[in-house]
Amino acid sequence: MPMPRPLDAPTIALLGRAFGPDLLYDEAALSARSSDESGLAQAPAAVLLARTEAQVSRLLELANAHGFAVTPRGAGTGLAGGCLASPGGVVLDLTAMNRILNIDSRSLTATVQPGVLTGDLRSAARAKGLFYPPDPASLGTCTIGGNAATNAGGPACVKYGTTRDYVLGLSAVLPTGELIRAGVNTRKGVVGYDLARLLVGSEGTLGVITELTLKLLPHPRAAACVAAVFADLGAAMRAVIGIMARGHLPSAMEFLDARCLKLVGDLLPFRVTGGDSALVLVETDGDAEQTAREVADVEGICRELGATDLIPAATEEHSREAIWSVRRSVSTRIHEACAVYIPEDIAVPIGRIADMVAALPQVERRHGVTIYAFGHAGDGNIHLNLTAPDAALRPQVEAAAEDCVRLALGFGGTMSGEHGVGLAKRGLLPLELSPVSLRLQRGLKALLDPGHVLNPGKIFPPDEPEEHP
Ligand SMILES: Cc1cc2nc3c(=O)[nH]c(=O)nc-3n(C[C@H](O)[C@H](O)[C@H](O)COP(=O)(O)OP(=O)(O)OC[C@H]3O[C@@H](n4cnc5c(N)ncnc54)[C@H](O)[C@@H]3O)c2cc1C
Repeated sequence: MPMPRPLDAPTIALLGRAFGPDLLYDEAALSARSSDESGLAQAPAAVLLARTEAQVSRLLELANAHGFAVTPRGAGTGLAGGCLASPGGVVLDLTAMNRILNIDSRSLTATVQPGVLTGDLRSAARAKGLFYPPDPASLGTCTIGGNAATNAGGPACVKYGTTRDYVLGLSAVLPTGELIRAGVNTRKGVVGYDLARLLVGSEGTLGVITELTLKLLPHPRAAACVAAVFADLGAAMRAVIGIMARGHLPSAMEFLDARCLKLVGDLLPFRVTGGDSALVLVETDGDAEQTAREVADVEGICRELGATDLIPAATEEHSREAIWSVRRSVSTRIHEACAVYIPEDIAVPIGRIADMVAALPQVERRHGVTIYAFGHAGDGNIHLNLTAPDAALRPQVEAAAEDCVRLALGFGGTMSGEHGVGLAKRGLLPLELSPVSLRLQRGLKALLDPGHVLNPGKIFPPDEPEEHP
C-alpha cells in the first residue's frame, strides 16, 4: 500500500481556510507534537487542534480528497510511537476536546470527550462515590481517548480489567470522514458485531474516537497495601503466583526489580536493603474488615514464601498514594537515566513469569545491555526497559528487545500487554501473528480505510519500501 502524499503548500493553504486558527504549522506547535515516550520522533507538517467532531470529519474528508495522512494524538505519553505523524502528514490533536459531559450516578456511567485526562475522570467519578478503575501509571497526563485507542491497562487490571472492559459505547469518525456510533449505553449488548471493541485497541488506525460512554462501579469503601521485599526477583515472582494460587485477587500486584529499586529508592518512604532485592506491592480493596483480613493473609503468604521484610502501608490515602506515586515514577526515571532505552511490555501466562525473569540475565550478557524490569506482576505483564549508556549501542538494544519478545512468545505470551505495536514494534508483528491473521487484519484496515489515510505505517510491517507517489 503506497504511503499518502506529503502536504504541499496549496493543501496547507486549503486546510488553513477550512480550519482557521485551529490549524497550526508554526515551529513550536509542530515540535511539541513530534515525539511521544517511545524515544522515536517525527514532526508533522501541520497540526489540527480539533474542537468538534465536525472538524475531525471534515479533516478526514479532505485527507481522502487530497491524499494526505492524518494521525490522531492524545497527550503523547504512548510508548510505541503510535501518535507520531506520517512523514509530511497532519497530526490531529484531540486534547482540546476535553469535557466530562456527564457522570450518571443512577446508570453508573460517564460520558466523556476523548481529551479528558484519565486522572481527572477518576477524580470526578470519585467525588460522586463512583469508581473508574483503569489506572495507567501515566494517569495524571494521558487521555481517555489515548487509553481507549491503546486499550490501556494499569495496576488495577489484575482485578478490574483493562480500558476495553469499561467502554460501553463510543462515537467515532471513520477514516472516510463518516460518523459512527458503536456499542451501547447499557451494561450489556450483543446486537451485531462489536465494532466498539474493534475500535478500542486499534491504535488510531480504524477511526478517531470523539466520545466515550464508560462503565463506572461503586467506589470501594477501603483499600490496604503492603510492600514485601524478597531476596531476588525469582522469589518475588514465586510469591506473586503463590498469592493468587491461594485464592486471593488483589486490586494491584506490582513489582520492581533491584535496578528499579536503586533508581527510585530515594523516593520510597522506607529503605530496602540487599543488593539483589526485589519489591512486590500488593493492594486489596473492598470494605475495611475484608481488606484488613486479606492483607494479613497476603503478608502471611509472603513471609512463608521468603519475604525478607514486610512494610505495611497505612490504610490512609496519603501513605498508599506515596508508594504508588513512586511506582508511577519508575518509567520516567529510567528514561532520564539512560542514553538509549526501548520500552517493551511483554506479557506471559502468570505461571511463567518466574521463567521469564530468570531468562533475562542471559539476554543481558548476550547483547551487553542492561534490563530494568518492573510492572504488573499479577497480570504477567512485565515492563522491560532495555537500555545502554551510549546511543551507538542502539542495535544491540534492539537485538536484545527482539530476544525478549521471542522468549515471551516461547512462554506462550504476547509482545505487548498494554502499550500496543505502533511504529516501535511493527517489524516484530509476524513473530506473533500468523499469515492468515495478518491478512485478515490488513483486510479490515483496507475495508475501513480504503484511502489509507488514517495513521498509515502503524501496527503492520511495511510489506514494500514506503514510497510517496
Ligand atoms: C510514565 C508512563 C507510564 C505509563 N504507564 C502505563 C500503564 O500503566 N499502562 C498503560 O497501558 N500504558 C502506560 N503508559 C503508556 C501511555 O500512557 C498509554 O498508552 C496511554 O493510553 C496513551 O494515552 P495518550 O493520551 O498519551 O495517547 P497518545 O500517546 O497521544 O496516542 C496513543 C495512540 O492512541 C491513538 N489515539 C489517541 N487518541 C485517539 C483518539 N481520540 N482516537 C483514536 N486514536 C487515538 C494515537 O494515534 C496513538 O496510536 C505509560 C506511559 C508513561 C510515559
